[in-house]
Amino acid sequence: MKSIAVFGSTGSIGKQTLSVCSEHTDEFSVYALVFGSNASEGIAQIEKFRPRIVGVYDVSAADVVRERFPDIEVISGASVWDIASRDGIDIAVNGVSGFNGTFPLINALKAGKTVALANKESVVCAGELVHRAAREGGGVILPVDSEQSAIFQCLSAGKRENVKRLILTASGGAFRTLPKEELEKVTPEMAAKHPNWSMGRKITIDSSTLFNKGLEVMEAAFLFNASADEIKVLIHPQSIVHSMVEYKDGSIIAQMSVPDMRLAIQYALTYPERTECPAAPLDLTSCELSFHEPDCERFPALPMAYHALRVGGSLPVAYNSGNEAAVARFIKGELRFNEIADCVAYAMDRVDNMKIDSMEKLLYCDKQARALANEFKI
Ligand code: NDP
Ligand code: MG
Repeated sequence: MKSIAVFGSTGSIGKQTLSVCSEHTDEFSVYALVFGSNASEGIAQIEKFRPRIVGVYDVSAADVVRERFPDIEVISGASVWDIASRDGIDIAVNGVSGFNGTFPLINALKAGKTVALANKESVVCAGELVHRAAREGGGVILPVDSEQSAIFQCLSAGKRENVKRLILTASGGAFRTLPKEELEKVTPEMAAKHPNWSMGRKITIDSSTLFNKGLEVMEAAFLFNASADEIKVLIHPQSIVHSMVEYKDGSIIAQMSVPDMRLAIQYALTYPERTECPAAPLDLTSCELSFHEPDCERFPALPMAYHALRVGGSLPVAYNSGNEAAVARFIKGELRFNEIADCVAYAMDRVDNMKIDSMEKLLYCDKQARALANEFKI
């Protein structure tokens, strides 16, 4: 029996993780649930899974939960991230959205835990600190992001030194075919709908700008120790091939399935075993697969990510945290869709460039990038 802590339990990844746990009650027990402020969803989950410990970041939501469950330990505020190092946990699932996912990741790795990692913002921003935590504590990361899970699976077909390229697929998002002049009319409601996947709001908007793919280029570089030149992105509108590995001999190994995150979540939880999954099987006779080059002019997020990856230092932080702030401004109606990239470029051009080798520097650059993105004027 593996004991699971779910960080971001009330979100899209968190709920799907709990769905996998419900299907395999003989294999997984839920030790901890951690969420931000959604007390009603959280309470329903606590009733169903009866975890040993609950983390609620928002202090008043935590009080509501405490009152309801006086027999369960409820932690609130920034201390919720310390739950990641508790003795009773075997696997910490990191489904927190945004930069905050960095804290449970580092704490879990320092404590020698296995982390099933969906949160990509953490490894983009804090790559060196994450590597250090894993080295010192002995923790390991198993990827949950579907592209990284696919590459992880495809890499078992050969030796790392014989890999030519990692090929990340991208659906192209909701506006894949929209002309450039139409992009400025895109509203937050339009951007919050994904053609193939059901996900949280921020990542869905990032999919439509291709910032999500840009973050994934950097995530792949971190997870698989790959250079910018070794990573290629291809648009694949059907989201059936989740990513590929091309070897030196020209063979390309692909991982395919229906677009359902429970597959990737379950693989990280059962690894190296495979077991029945609640996701629907893939009917190959109903698939038509197509691939083409991304349009970097309409979607500048992609070349910006390669630039951030090549320069390194605080540029990936400015890319991520500038984007988090820009998306928040887009949702508030302060920026148009096509101005998100301009806003992030503004933050990237002005952030103090430095090596991110301490938590202080990471927090400084994150704050500075958000302030720059918030001061950006059209
Ligand atoms: P959601 O917005 O659906 O969920 C985010 C979760 O994080 C919620 O449970 C939220 O709690 C919690 N949370 C946010 N801030 C805090 C905080 N300060 N303290 C504690 N908990 C917090 O996001 P997704 O599930 O879509 O995405 C999560 C991560 O996984 C992202 O990094 C995303 O890029 C990545 N990912 C997601 C995929 C998907 O299919 N959804 C696919 C691949 C990667 P509350 O509900 O209370 O606010
Ligand atoms: Mg992905």
